[in-house]
Amino acid sequence: MNKTVFLKRTALPAMLAVAMLALWRVPEPVIETEADVRMTLPDRIGEWQGHAVLFCQNPDCMRGVLWNPGDETTCPTCESELHIKSYAENTVLPADTEIVRKRYAHPRGPTLLLTIVLSGADRASIHRPERCLTAQGATITSRRIVRIEDDAGSAFSMTCFDTQQTRGHGQAVPGVFCYWFAGQNRETPFHWERMAWTGMARLFQGRVTRWAYISISGESDAAATRHDEYIVPFARKARAALLAKGNPPPSRQ
Ligand SMILES: [Zn+2]
Repeated sequence: MNKTVFLKRTALPAMLAVAMLALWRVPEPVIETEADVRMTLPDRIGEWQGHAVLFCQNPDCMRGVLWNPGDETTCPTCESELHIKSYAENTVLPADTEIVRKRYAHPRGPTLLLTIVLSGADRASIHRPERCLTAQGATITSRRIVRIEDDAGSAFSMTCFDTQQTRGHGQAVPGVFCYWFAGQNRETPFHWERMAWTGMARLFQGRVTRWAYISISGESDAAATRHDEYIVPFARKARAALLAKGNPPPSRQ
């Protein structure tokens, strides 16, 4: 019997049997409470000044409002309730999904929105970012992986999209949207890799990991050169402020 035939006849059925046995034996998973990131955003990140953003829960309004402690928690336009999660996030995502978000303004540069979505027990907490962006009416014009070294010499990577968002009067506004995931003491710019680690932790360790989906977005100028000038330093500083467990392990990207 040659090697290929042997594999087909014995090894593959044996592996399938082990996998099925493992699935059958999987106990109720333990849902982790700890996250790899802090779920409070600083008021300042380097030169950037942060402001909380709240969203109107009226589906006909859905206005985003800059908010300071002590301000009203009702919408200035329609007087409906304001909430940290947008109307769509409140409606679509499982209730145990945590979200924090701030808008950061640079004194001489663009304004960026930093959002962290922390998954709960349900894997539906984090969708594929491409799907959410296109559902919100944005067109992705290009994508790239941006590798960033931190001050301690370790590195992480983000997936970045250039986007076009059509506003009223048909005007197309260019934007940039970058994201990565942190959980299980790992970081990855790939949704599929996060899903794979999630599946393996659940299958082999009976754990449901709380992954943080960190995104940075903003409008951009047509030249697109300022993205890297501002977004990379901002991402580096934001990550240093957010990672809860000291220095992260070196990324494999
Ligand atoms: Zn409103």
